[in-house]
Amino acid sequence: MPHKPESAPHPTTLRAVRAALLDHYDRHARDLPWRRTRDPYAIWVSEIMLQQTRVDTVLRYYDRFLERFPNLGSLARAEEDAVLAAWSGLGYYRRARLLHAGVREVVARYGGEVPEGAEARRSLPGIGRYTAGAIGSIAFDRQEPLVDGNVARVFARIFALDTPITRSDTQAVLWALAEQLVVGERPGALNQALMELGALTCTKAAPSCTACPVQTHCRAHETGRARELPVVVKKRPPARRQLVAVLAQDQAAERLLLLRSETGLFAGLWNLPMAEGHDREAARALLGTLGVRARLDPQPVAELEHVLTHRHLMIQLFRARLSSFDARDSLRLQPRTELEQLGVSALTRKALGFWPEPAAQVTRVTRAPKTLASAKRAE
Ligand code: SF4
Repeated sequence: MPHKPESAPHPTTLRAVRAALLDHYDRHARDLPWRRTRDPYAIWVSEIMLQQTRVDTVLRYYDRFLERFPNLGSLARAEEDAVLAAWSGLGYYRRARLLHAGVREVVARYGGEVPEGAEARRSLPGIGRYTAGAIGSIAFDRQEPLVDGNVARVFARIFALDTPITRSDTQAVLWALAEQLVVGERPGALNQALMELGALTCTKAAPSCTACPVQTHCRAHETGRARELPVVVKKRPPARRQLVAVLAQDQAAERLLLLRSETGLFAGLWNLPMAEGHDREAARALLGTLGVRARLDPQPVAELEHVLTHRHLMIQLFRARLSSFDARDSLRLQPRTELEQLGVSALTRKALGFWPEPAAQVTRVTRAPKTLASAKRAE
C-alpha cells in the first residue's frame, strides 16, 4: 500500500495551494526561452536538456541547438554525429541519442507531429512519465501530472512525507498528489510553478519559507521541519577508477587520433584512446591493442580528475608522437579545426587543453581493403 501523508490533503487546501502557486508564478516566473513557445518539439528538447543539468548551463545550448535543428524533421534527418556535436558539452549523451531516436519515431509513426495522447508520447524512446507530463501539460494544455526532484521536495515538505522520496510507495504518493493538483485551468503553468518553487524558493539547502506563497499550507514549515524534509537515503560516493589516456598527434600537431567505442563510459562519442591503468605500460598496451604505433612521452603530461554520476575518474594523460596506425572505422585522425563536427566527450575536451605539441611524421597502415575507405574518410 502506498504510504500516505499524515492525512490526505483536503480539496480546499489543494485549491488554495494551486491558486497561490499560479499567482506567484505569474508574478515571479523566470523568462526562459522554452517558456516562450508552445511548440512540443522545442519543449521536448528543453525538457531533455534540463534533466540532470542546471538551467544556466542549458541556456548556453538550447538556442544554438534549435538554430541547428529548428524543427523535428531537421533533427530526425540529421546524422548522429551532428546531433552529438550540437550536444557536446552538455553531457549525458544518452539523452541526445534517445531524443534523436524519439523524433525519428515521431516521423515514422506519427507523420512528424508529436502525438497529443499521453500513451503514444510515453511509448517514444527517451520519454518517461515526467517528460510526457511536461510536454502534455505545457504544449497541449492537458491535465497531466509531473514529478521531478524539485516537485518531490516541495510535496514532501508541504504534505510532510516521512519516507524516502525515492521509495516506490512514496513515489506513488507524490504522483497521486501531482495528479490531484494539476486538475484545473492552466495545467502547464501549474506544473512549471511547482518546479519553479522548488528551484528558487523551496530549495534543497535553504528553503525561503518567509518568501513562500504556500507557507500557510505547509506542514513542514508549521512544524519546523522544513530542513529535515524530504527524507533522503544517502548515496554511495562514485566508485574510483584509474585510467590512462593518450593524446596522439600528427607531425604538424594539427590532427589528433580519436577513438569511438560502442560500449563503456562514453559509448557513441569520440574520445582519446583510453583504458584502465595508471602508468606508461598501460598506455603502451592500450596503443598496442588498437594497432597504433607511437612514441610515448616517458612521463604523463597531466593527471586529470573527472567525476561522473557513478564514477570518479583519475586519468594519467600521456602525449605521443604518432607514426602509424591500422585503419578501422572506430579510429580517426581529426583536424583540430573540425573537432566541433564530432560528438566529443567532456573528458576529452578537458584533455585537449594539453594539445598541441609538434610530433614526428605519421604514416597510416591499412591492413584490409575494406578499411581503406574509412581511412580516406577520416582524412
Ligand atoms: Fe518549502 Fe518553506 Fe514553502 Fe514549505 S513554506 S513549501 S518548506 S519554502
